[in-house]
Amino acid sequence: MRPFQFNPGPRLISGDGSAARLADQLPDGPCLFVSDRDVISLGLTDVMRAALEVGGREIVLFDAVEADPSKETLLAAVDLGRRHDVTHVVGFGGGSPMDVAKLAAYLLGSGDNLDEIWGVEVARGQRLPLALVPTTAGTGSEATPISVITCEGGTKLAVNARPLIADWAALDAGLTLGLPAHVTAATGIDAIVHSIEAYTSARLKNPLSDALAREALRLLAGNLLKAIKEPGNVEARSAMLLGAHLAGLAFSNAPVAGVHALAYPLGGIHHLPHGLSNALMLRAVLLHNAEAARDLYAELAEIVAPECAELGSQARCALLIDRLDRMVADSGIAPRLRDHGIPADDIPMLAREAMKQQRLLVNNPCPIEEADARRLYEAAW
Ligand SMILES: [Zn+2]
Repeated sequence: MRPFQFNPGPRLISGDGSAARLADQLPDGPCLFVSDRDVISLGLTDVMRAALEVGGREIVLFDAVEADPSKETLLAAVDLGRRHDVTHVVGFGGGSPMDVAKLAAYLLGSGDNLDEIWGVEVARGQRLPLALVPTTAGTGSEATPISVITCEGGTKLAVNARPLIADWAALDAGLTLGLPAHVTAATGIDAIVHSIEAYTSARLKNPLSDALAREALRLLAGNLLKAIKEPGNVEARSAMLLGAHLAGLAFSNAPVAGVHALAYPLGGIHHLPHGLSNALMLRAVLLHNAEAARDLYAELAEIVAPECAELGSQARCALLIDRLDRMVADSGIAPRLRDHGIPADDIPMLAREAMKQQRLLVNNPCPIEEADARRLYEAAW
């Protein structure tokens, strides 16, 4: 067995009402509460905010987080927190509010300069106490040490460092019951991609990340379509939320790769939602990897299609790609880049931009050069 290292995630509270119960764990003093306007207007934060106030805390609300949050948004949240002398930070919502909350807690606590901490394990300071509550089952951001911010020219930069792992996370599936089908689909596919890319991650996969990735894929693939068809099905929603969290723990340790690297320019430049971007690139990248990752894909095929155990590894690998492709279609996602307004003329630029994601490309089971990336975008177009 290869030597390995595994970093656990936050302390976890799961179940109905867990977001409100989380309030009891938090320190006294003003709370920087980071969310977005949709989450607030749906009333999802009401119970937790009331619980924080019952505990005597002032809530300093920052509700201006947009999709693909920008550096300006992050720095505005930090500035608000500093002016109110907050003692802790809550991130409540999808990946965007959680990513902003993680870095805001870090910058407020450490006093570091953002432009000096991009990259892997560069940030080493002390952040403020931090709690995260996801309202989508997808990014797994509540489990990870990663925060992705959109910078000048649409380039996505990330801080990936252990101080960003939250102190607490609450998995409260009731918060996800109202998610519209297209959001359930895109975020669910994102989580499925996390589990697959963690399982085939070239450098850092290990027995624990493998176990988490396999269980994540079982929960996610078994419940995605049910959660879309029956949005009020709490069992399916709970399984999706746990699956997304386990996939987050897996890829915190065994990082994601080519699908994400090629998806990022679609979000950064064309503002497609992160999960949708991943769904659109999934088939092309898996086919590109099929030879290098054949045995691992064959192992995952047994999770999504248990009846295939008798087949050879090449057939199982092809079956996995086929099943995932069908899952994307059945989830209602229009499967081509052109369905989402991406002009074919943009492909060379997208491929150039994807090459900036070397932190991800190094984890792919086989190399993706710029010419490969162009070909993969063309295949997905
Ligand atoms: Zn993702």
